[in-house]
Amino acid sequence: MSQQHTSQRELFESRPQWAEDDARQGLIATVVLSEGVEKPLDYLVPEAIASSVEPGRRVRVPLGRGNRERLAYCVAVRHGELPQSPLKSVMGVEDDKPLLSARMLELTKWMADRWMARWGEVLEAVLPAGVRLRTRVRVSPLLVASGAEPARKPTPAQAKVLAAAVEPATAEDLAKATGASRAVVQRLVKLGLLAEVGSVERVPARPERPGIVHDRPEELSAAQAEALGAIRGAMASRRHETIVLFGVTGSGKTEVYLQAVEETVSYGRQAIVLVPEISLTPQTCDRFRARFGTVAVLHSHLTPAERHAQWREIASGRVNVVVGARSAIFAPAPRLGLIVIDEEHESSFKQATAPRYHARDVAEWIARAEGVPLVLGSATPSLETFARCLSGEWRMCRMAERVGGGQLPPVITVDLRERGSRSRGAISPRLAAGIRWALDSGGQVMLLLNRRGFATHVQCQACGHTARCDQCDLALTLHQPGNRGICHGCGLVTRLPADCPDCHAPGLVHSGTGTQRLEEQVRAAFPDAAVARMDTDTMRTRGSHERTLDAFRHRQLDILVGTQMIAKGLDFPSVMLVGVVNADAALHLADFRAAERTCQLVTQVAGRSGRGPLGGRVVVQTSTPDHPAIRAAANHDYEAFVRSELPAREALLYPPYGSVVRIVVRSLHERAAADWAGHVVERLRQASEGMPLIRVLGPAPAPIARLRDRFRWHLQVHGPDGAALRELVGRATAGLRTPDEVAWIIDVDPVDMM
Ligand code: ADP
Ligand code: ZN
Repeated sequence: MSQQHTSQRELFESRPQWAEDDARQGLIATVVLSEGVEKPLDYLVPEAIASSVEPGRRVRVPLGRGNRERLAYCVAVRHGELPQSPLKSVMGVEDDKPLLSARMLELTKWMADRWMARWGEVLEAVLPAGVRLRTRVRVSPLLVASGAEPARKPTPAQAKVLAAAVEPATAEDLAKATGASRAVVQRLVKLGLLAEVGSVERVPARPERPGIVHDRPEELSAAQAEALGAIRGAMASRRHETIVLFGVTGSGKTEVYLQAVEETVSYGRQAIVLVPEISLTPQTCDRFRARFGTVAVLHSHLTPAERHAQWREIASGRVNVVVGARSAIFAPAPRLGLIVIDEEHESSFKQATAPRYHARDVAEWIARAEGVPLVLGSATPSLETFARCLSGEWRMCRMAERVGGGQLPPVITVDLRERGSRSRGAISPRLAAGIRWALDSGGQVMLLLNRRGFATHVQCQACGHTARCDQCDLALTLHQPGNRGICHGCGLVTRLPADCPDCHAPGLVHSGTGTQRLEEQVRAAFPDAAVARMDTDTMRTRGSHERTLDAFRHRQLDILVGTQMIAKGLDFPSVMLVGVVNADAALHLADFRAAERTCQLVTQVAGRSGRGPLGGRVVVQTSTPDHPAIRAAANHDYEAFVRSELPAREALLYPPYGSVVRIVVRSLHERAAADWAGHVVERLRQASEGMPLIRVLGPAPAPIARLRDRFRWHLQVHGPDGAALRELVGRATAGLRTPDEVAWIIDVDPVDMM
């Protein structure tokens, strides 16, 4: 009976049951917006564009009550049941093919979770601007005069362009050559007087630097061979493994990277090599260029169009070796075979702005997903890396000796507390004697002082008034010439008064030597030596690093004074003396990594000395010669520092034994910043009730309590398990409505604690 009834309905109703069901089915695209809305949103995909809506492409969608058109990343497409409330429809598709592979979508989702960032913000970060704007920068059509008869007499400007358009040229070039505006050229195209005959891609020329040597050694040292063997083993068995080269400076780590990359390329696969900063590591880049010819060097000076062109070369597989800083980890290598991170302990691998990711963790994720080895190299591995080696998760290859049997230079520590050690300004008599010895032996000298400017303090001796920045809670640094006070927080420049603005006593006193004054003292003490300074003040223009380093390499300079810039990856065989002018400069900062950084910096710079046959020495000036960080660096025994530091970290559940989430609140009004920080702390305390291992610290004014007029308060949450900690913070901060006058950020596993 019922059977019959049904069939009758089927016969007589205009929409049979199965069609009703199907009408509630549809193609649904999940999209993520780069800003504004945090959650992924679902949209209906109209039939007409169904074939071109796919994950990784961007689509245009209506948003909000006004249905404003917004660009969004399509992250998933599914055929399924439509929800009760009607879905809005995708309006159109932006890209003609996906900008992101399925793997990149997965990676960005993971990153968003790992660093508590918004997925849309991560998607924006992994795609260079030139790739996102590709319709505008990728190809320029080539134009040529079409030969058509103009309907009207061309204007003089038009006539000039037409006359010039005998050879195919881009609109830009035509405009430039004739002095006409782009609009004139475009008008001619519209009138049909200029025709498109093709397109060009602007692939940047590879900047060649002279003096590149092909330096492949005949034979590897035993330690190098072992390290290379470990990498090869992982490669051959096509499995992921993280291999850490813990090798003293000059032990031949770079040579191991080079040969591992050679092997990768010989398998027809690609390699990504990350370095802390391209401009500071010209030698490393040169060695890769010399060995491989076509190397995509991704540096920060590339224009969006250049970067996009490099991206395309990599994606097409025409370039097999990619060298770059942090963001090069996202290079779209389709046949990735190896990732290398040189100087893996460097803090520049962590991005300071949202998304605040760490390239080392991203690299590990990618290497794992691709089943390829990740090689991390350093003379001073981060404690995070060290701990994972000690636990057996990662493999450590020790390279304890310099290749060719070179000795690590003896280190002399000068105790700055002793009377007499300061008699020559910042240069103690022992350091001065060392410099004299090196110069007289025909060697070169590097002096490290990690504070730029002339003097770090300007103070009135009568009342104690210190010159401070108007908009930051920071002392002004005196820069010469011009008696300028510069704030190193915000860059504000003020002219320093001659007299105290408070008590009007004449004459302010300068103290705390910076690189500028050090340079002056060095010139005065060694008038026969050629001296140059390398810090951000002297290295503002493009290519200035290379010029200075080239001059130093070619012995046109005897003494190089500089900030930590001079401590990185440089290999100058004639350096016989390295002086660390003030090893304690950063030792006492309110940062749990202060000792680690100090030990790393001093060890690294000490390793620049005595690389050649003449040998060398190191002089370290310090007020705390017994501090484990200084002692270890002086003994070339970084591992001793690691052994003393790890238990301290473990006791406090600091990384690598726990995770830290730091929240920084900013506001023009101190009360508002403090109140909001207090409110967040309250929520965190409530959310973590009954979780004894979670510690909520703060709120407190940040070490830099005011920056660019904004008061800064911060708080920290510590816990043994990163994922649980992030879940907790996410739960406690979910749905918070931030007051208008406050801005705040979440930094997971921060490296910047100021
Ligand atoms: P690191 O990266 O550990 O500082 P490098 O790879 O830069 O060490 O090597 C230091 C110096 O020794 C370089 O000049 C390099 O060309 C040279 N070198 C490296 N390996 C060998 C080797 N097996 N035989 C001879 N020289 C080598
Ligand atoms: Zn300032």
